[in-house]
Amino acid sequence: MAELILGKPLSRLPAFLRDRAGKNAKVMVVADAAIAGRRGKSLVTGLKKAGFNAALTVIPSGERSKTLAQAGRLYRALARARFERKSILIALGGGVVGDLTGFVAATFLRGIRLVQAPTTLLAQVDAAIGGKTAVDIPEGKNLVGVFYDPLFVWIDPALLKTLPQKHWRNGLSEVIKYGAIRDARLFEWLERRIDHLVKGYSPEWAPIIARCAEIKAEVVKKDPVETTGQRALLNFGHSIGHAVEAASEYRDYLHGEAISIGMVVAGALSKQMTGLDPVDQIRLRALLVRAGLPARVKKPIARRRIMDFLARDKKVLDGAIRFVLLKGLGEALGGQDVPPELLDEALSASGL
Ligand code: NAD
Repeated sequence: MAELILGKPLSRLPAFLRDRAGKNAKVMVVADAAIAGRRGKSLVTGLKKAGFNAALTVIPSGERSKTLAQAGRLYRALARARFERKSILIALGGGVVGDLTGFVAATFLRGIRLVQAPTTLLAQVDAAIGGKTAVDIPEGKNLVGVFYDPLFVWIDPALLKTLPQKHWRNGLSEVIKYGAIRDARLFEWLERRIDHLVKGYSPEWAPIIARCAEIKAEVVKKDPVETTGQRALLNFGHSIGHAVEAASEYRDYLHGEAISIGMVVAGALSKQMTGLDPVDQIRLRALLVRAGLPARVKKPIARRRIMDFLARDKKVLDGAIRFVLLKGLGEALGGQDVPPELLDEALSASGL
């Protein structure tokens, strides 16, 4: 499991990298258009000052960059720049840059060194941690990828100052998930401060991001390549969430919004099946809503489509759809087989 460097400014990354990796190595910083300008250029300047042979590569923003074609362009740029096994790729950006750059680092020359420097809330608490890399193909998201650990993950919350509001909500959904599955105190803290936290970056975010990143790292450490079921706990709300995203062709909902609906459904199932206190079920729903996240779908989606996507979900085992449910706030249970009539009822309550 890669080391997490929490709360240090990005300007200190070059000196840290020199201590870890030695100087003179070739370094390519991969960033998307939103972050390359100021942050990308100053990181490259810092790397050069620290003795690296560094350059910046800019990719277009958004999911459309997570393709084999974009990976191919990066391979060719690396080959032209004569990158070697000891050379280093730095992913400076959100989950898209992290997943793509990680995939390229894992596969170019059968693996070159990688650093993750996440710049969205979602990437700082989730995507950059745990070694999953991937690209999309027309048949589905994240279908091609490998597990590949970076040298370290550099998490500087101050990079989030410029993050647009909708991307805050996207990450906030995962933050609430961590409280719900693992840390009741974090959940209570979010309840107290949500009206302030939802507005965007403030220094108060630093310890929250650190706690979420640690939870993800702890879970991943117990189940690095998803074999023991521990890592599946991170999928609370995700089975339904992925089905909502897919059934609406990734157009109507941000990932965080879709999993918010999924967490509301899973909360209702938890009350019925795993003994979640009805008051805590209401608290979960209320926190999501106060965070500006949806509790139900905006427009109807045919139940058949949701069921089709649920059946195709990676978490299906031997044909049964298994859910992560809550025993209480801060305590999740994996592998729960939900009877169809209960699922039916919970889906209806969220307009599905
Ligand atoms: P993203 O990378 O597309 O970033 C969202 C937007 O924010 C982009 O337009 C980007 O240009 C912009 N941006 C990034 N940093 C910014 C900053 N500091 N200031 C202003 N704008 C900034 O999306 P995301 O939500 O970070 O990540 C989503 C991706 O992550 C998906 O492809 C998903 O599959 C993947 N993901 C991977 C994992 C994993 O374990 N590998 C986990 C969750 C999600």
